[in-house]
Amino acid sequence: MANPTQITASTCCYCGVGCGVLIEHDGEKILGVAGDPSHPANFGKLCSKGSTLHLTGDLDARGQHPQLRLGKSLARARTGWDSALDHTASVFAETILEHGPDSVAFYISGQLLTEDYYAFNKLARALVGTHNIDSNSRLCMSSAVVGYKRSLGADAPPCSYRDIELSDCLLIVGSNMAYAHPVLFRRLEEAKARRPEMKVIVIDPRRTDTCELADLHLAILPGTDVALFHGILHLLLWEGWIDRAYIDAHTEGFAALKNLVRDYTPAAVADICGISREALQSCAQWIGQAPSFLSLWCMGLNQSTAGSAKNSALINLHLATGQIGKPGAGPFSLTGQPNAMGGRETGSLSNLLPGHREAGNAEHRAEVAAYWGIDALPETPGLSAIELFDAVHDGRIKALWIACTNPAQSLPDQSKIHEALTNCPFVVVQEAFFTTETCHYADLLLPAASWGEKEGTVTNSERRVSHVRRAVPAPFEARPDWSITCDFARRLETLLRPGLPSLFDFPNSEALFEEYKHLTTQRDLDLSGLSYALLDDLGPQQWPFPAGAQGGSERLYADGRFPTVSGRAQFLAEPYRAAKERRESRYSLTLNTGRLRDQWHGMSRTGTAAQLFGHVEGPVLGLHPDELRRRRLTDGDLVRLRSRRGSLILPVQVDDSVRPGQAWLPMHWGNRFLRGLGTNVLTQPAFDPLSKQPELKHAGVEVDRVELP
Ligand code: SF4
Repeated sequence: MANPTQITASTCCYCGVGCGVLIEHDGEKILGVAGDPSHPANFGKLCSKGSTLHLTGDLDARGQHPQLRLGKSLARARTGWDSALDHTASVFAETILEHGPDSVAFYISGQLLTEDYYAFNKLARALVGTHNIDSNSRLCMSSAVVGYKRSLGADAPPCSYRDIELSDCLLIVGSNMAYAHPVLFRRLEEAKARRPEMKVIVIDPRRTDTCELADLHLAILPGTDVALFHGILHLLLWEGWIDRAYIDAHTEGFAALKNLVRDYTPAAVADICGISREALQSCAQWIGQAPSFLSLWCMGLNQSTAGSAKNSALINLHLATGQIGKPGAGPFSLTGQPNAMGGRETGSLSNLLPGHREAGNAEHRAEVAAYWGIDALPETPGLSAIELFDAVHDGRIKALWIACTNPAQSLPDQSKIHEALTNCPFVVVQEAFFTTETCHYADLLLPAASWGEKEGTVTNSERRVSHVRRAVPAPFEARPDWSITCDFARRLETLLRPGLPSLFDFPNSEALFEEYKHLTTQRDLDLSGLSYALLDDLGPQQWPFPAGAQGGSERLYADGRFPTVSGRAQFLAEPYRAAKERRESRYSLTLNTGRLRDQWHGMSRTGTAAQLFGHVEGPVLGLHPDELRRRRLTDGDLVRLRSRRGSLILPVQVDDSVRPGQAWLPMHWGNRFLRGLGTNVLTQPAFDPLSKQPELKHAGVEVDRVELP
């Protein structure tokens, strides 16, 4: 007899909006999903991806059992968990003892839960003794982390989703919210319908679906954002639309910035950005005269060799107008992945430590080491994603553990990544779906539990922590990520620190959360008042939420004090610098990559649902009609798209949403689908000097017709 139907409240596993979902199941199988009307992120709404969650995750694609190979030329064979983890512990221990702790590395994911992140961080930094742990969040928001920290003193988005509904003027920069954060965009659409006087400005080289809502779309030339923001500030100063009292009371560094933006005249900026002076003037006027001004941004700003400067230049506009810390106002970066924020909080970028600490800060290292009961954390800096795979490529890293991410598709300059993974002596891949490109390179494949099958917490873009609940057991032998990590760590401990009490004695995910949260006490993100029980009683909460608090914090910096040394926010005066790869005759087009409405990342989950191919069936290159005419191409022709790093063969289509001289390609298809290594065979590994985030949205490319035999 079938089990009775049950409902478990959890969250969606895709984007950083962090919608609440009600999972309908029979205790064994997930039967359906609905939006959770009580969740403050979505109030019952779901987008096309969230509402089809129960149709994804085909069991044929899932990892069933650990698979191990004992030589690169051998096939992987099924093995048990004990033998898999024992073998791996001995390989890691031998590598560490022979080559040092920095000869191993961990590359993890914004899809993991906070408890998973914490376990990995403790494993790498406390037990192995390396800061070589980085996350795929390096590819999506590390520039925002740097932007917030340099300008405001802490990595804390100061706004709430409700501010989107309250704002009088919204600036959406480098974000196709309509596709990437659909439920939040729906909230904005409804707010604009209620308050048509609200101004929406979209800055994007492409005319995306988000532009449908815009009162003004500035299709700037790719990579010119810093010049645009300085040009806006130039006009705000000229017109007297700045808040001098706020600048004097709460900020530092304005004089240098004022001096810098003097040169960013409307004529100069219109020329650099490829927009009209009238459009620039309207943009500045709406920002300068709005009672409240909010900006939203995502990958278009962050994925750039000038990502940190772009973030700072945008935050400058808020500080100059006093538009921060009040309803409907503030600089609000949107996170791409469901728990990228949790990664930032737990220290899951190589330069961070748990509780928004810095790995390069001796005091911070000592605090964490003391809390973990170890002598010290290492001083040697860790490697960021691109640097880390460079080190794999040149043989410095000899054992690599990859969890819940697919670098063989998602990192730029794919040919080099595939070479690195081929040559790495020992690669562990911990994955729910054994179909990803990266699994191909694994010496050990470990089956991980997936959405609906494990418990923990996530933090969404507005600093809101939700309790993620398990509805059904993981299939076959799959296990939760934190459990795999801790089990491995306990085995490695017996080899690296025999006889000492275990650092990984966690019976469940809640025990990890309880240990972790005290590392945030009296830090800017203080989570010490939260617990699974409190989240169950009060629902999802925004940090900071210190012990004894009655509720979370909707907005930060309302008192004008900032967590900097002086207590003042910092203006940063950095000039505009052009993107790394300029257009030239051999590569006359600038390639931009991005998301489609119904697919998620490398499609390991969304690619299993036929319904999600109704919007776009496959990868096509979008080119302006002038570019097609120039090359005597017609819609649907097969072309070779090439950059300095590699090439792909795919169809081209007429796309007047991109300007002449530009090309657009979705990021979702890897070499499972494309002739070539996938979209990122073309993209470049150059990265921002501060955030180390690569320039995934800007590559010089050229297109040639493919003559069919
Ligand atoms: Fe999931 Fe994001 Fe869609 Fe919400 S908006 S249902 S979190 S993909």
